[in-house]
Amino acid sequence: MSNSTYTRSYKKGEVIFKEGDVGDCAYLVDNGRVEIQVDNLDGSTPVAFLGVGDIFGEMSIIDGADRSATAVALEDCELVEVSKEQLNERIEDADPVVRFLLSILLNRIRENLKDSKDPTRTNLPAEAISTNVINLGDFKTNVDVVEKIKLEKSLKNALDSNEFRVHYQPIVDLKTNSVSGFEALMRWNNPDRGMVRPDIFMGIAEETSLIVPIGHWIIKKTFRDFAKLKQNLKAANIIDQKLFLSINIAAKQFNDPHLFEVLNQTAKYYGLKPKEIKLEITERVLLAGSFVFDWITKARKKGYSVALDDFGTGYSSLSYLANLEVNNIKIDKSFVDKMSRDKKSLSIVKSIIHMSKDLGLSVIAEGVERREEWEALRGLGCTFVQGYYYSKPLPMAEIYDMLTGVEKKKAA
Ligand code: C2E
Ligand code: CA
Ligand code: CA
Repeated sequence: MSNSTYTRSYKKGEVIFKEGDVGDCAYLVDNGRVEIQVDNLDGSTPVAFLGVGDIFGEMSIIDGADRSATAVALEDCELVEVSKEQLNERIEDADPVVRFLLSILLNRIRENLKDSKDPTRTNLPAEAISTNVINLGDFKTNVDVVEKIKLEKSLKNALDSNEFRVHYQPIVDLKTNSVSGFEALMRWNNPDRGMVRPDIFMGIAEETSLIVPIGHWIIKKTFRDFAKLKQNLKAANIIDQKLFLSINIAAKQFNDPHLFEVLNQTAKYYGLKPKEIKLEITERVLLAGSFVFDWITKARKKGYSVALDDFGTGYSSLSYLANLEVNNIKIDKSFVDKMSRDKKSLSIVKSIIHMSKDLGLSVIAEGVERREEWEALRGLGCTFVQGYYYSKPLPMAEIYDMLTGVEKKKAA
């Protein structure tokens, strides 16, 4: 064997790797031919002949098991090595369902190789293979993936079957102690599973693009609820409330060509002004590319307000904030949680509030559960708070009761 920068040369008859070896790389045949053989009672049996462009030895670096066959150069060969890292990075980035399928396929191939060694063996039943599946990457059990596939199926029916609900969580002005707006948060009451967590099903909706029709439904449902609330408050003579409605916009929705059309038409239909609507986008989506910045500019030009959600969790550089036309920053709950016991988190919260003020943005602190947090945030000059301390997300009827003083909901 000799090496060049990109290839390794093997002489005719040379063993490239042996069955049972630890596999640390795969090979791409650049020149020549390779035989793959498995050892059995009669010596060895060829199971494949490979030529230019074929890849081999990839199974061990994908699933970490030892080489299950031997590779021999059939003639003088040039092989390109594919490292574990090169392949793993791509596999880790792949959809968990794809990784799951890959693990099943690898098991099947390995079982077939075992069968070819021992002709008395019969094929394993499918159930035996699936419980014997190798875990690829970081997904814990195959149950996760199977669950996900099942959930995806029932999610498709959920819209038609009217299983979605929206709850609204008050956002409170720290200066006046009054409710300034609400964040609309999706709920899915699945008949078989009960309440499914929104971060789980919205994640699946996003992966499958179901988020687009669901997103349209959310706009129509929440605008209708919001318009009705305003009407009812007016009828109850509570007319001086300037309220806003916040809705979450997922990354995939940036590619929805009808999003603004649906927003505008629905707002018009229910007599709402775009400035009453806040669109929450997570800080992470900024990584998707410059089109997100254009999208924000477009939203602002149309009169919508934009909030940067989960701030502090998704983006390493602050310099982009100067060019970002958002109205609000939502400090992530994780900082609020740690603020009272960890000086560094407190410093981060302080800095975010000061920086936002300098940039003319108002800050919403999320996940405020305790009085100390509420007081500390007020002291730091934070504009709005949202969290269980004031109220959990509630159905619209309870929000109405809260605002009209019928029922005081102050969660401890
Ligand atoms: P998010 O946008 O960060 O929403 C805030 C989450 O924090 C909500 O969880 C809310 O109930 C929860 N929360 C608020 N205050 C507190 C508190 O004091 N303590 C604790 N422990 N939690 C608090 P939820 O409703 O389970 O939603 C989770 C995530 O699901 C949301 O995170 C959002 O990313 C996603 N989601 C929910 N509804 C929608 C939607 O309509 N569209 C999209 N795209 N995503 C949504
Ligand atoms: Ca949000
Ligand atoms: Ca958030």
